[in-house]
Amino acid sequence: MADKIMKSIERFIERLAISNEVDPQKAKHVFRLVLEASFGNDKGLSDVELEEITGYKQQDVRKILRMFAEAKMMISSKRKLPPQELVRYYWRVDIDSINLGLLKRKRAVVSKLKYRLEHEMSAEFYVCPLDGSRYSFSEAFDYEFSCPRCGAVLERNDNQKAVEELRRFIKELEQEIEEDERKIYSS
Ligand SMILES: [Zn+2]
Repeated sequence: MADKIMKSIERFIERLAISNEVDPQKAKHVFRLVLEASFGNDKGLSDVELEEITGYKQQDVRKILRMFAEAKMMISSKRKLPPQELVRYYWRVDIDSINLGLLKRKRAVVSKLKYRLEHEMSAEFYVCPLDGSRYSFSEAFDYEFSCPRCGAVLERNDNQKAVEELRRFIKELEQEIEEDERKIYSS
């Protein structure tokens, strides 16, 4: 997973852990280990393996796994291990479900960007050539077109660049969303 996405997931895990009275560092550690064992045909990791790798107490590991299951971030599956047919639960990160969460977040960002674009396109802005502070037309009018900070004459701000940039961000993100949707809903 991309670095940026991983960071936002880890931030979420920290908050989740605190709300569940779980050590955030331990929770992140367990998540990373299980994530690494969740791609392709990997069977995931059992709670026993996690205890061995991390050295954390059984009750801690189980509490963390339960927390991730409740948050729909991990799924477990039962496996019988030969030769004694020992039953073990293997844990994997539910990548689809996490992607679905990210998809929601991306959609929220797109609508925010569209709102900003509308704002940029509908309004006239004035900027101070000395300190770069920016004002709407009505603010600039109230200040009689001189900067309230330094007194310089405010100049009409050409926001064409900002508009183009916003348009590009929106287009890129919309393409990403489309790809995500295709991946999630076709599987
Ligand atoms: Zn100024």
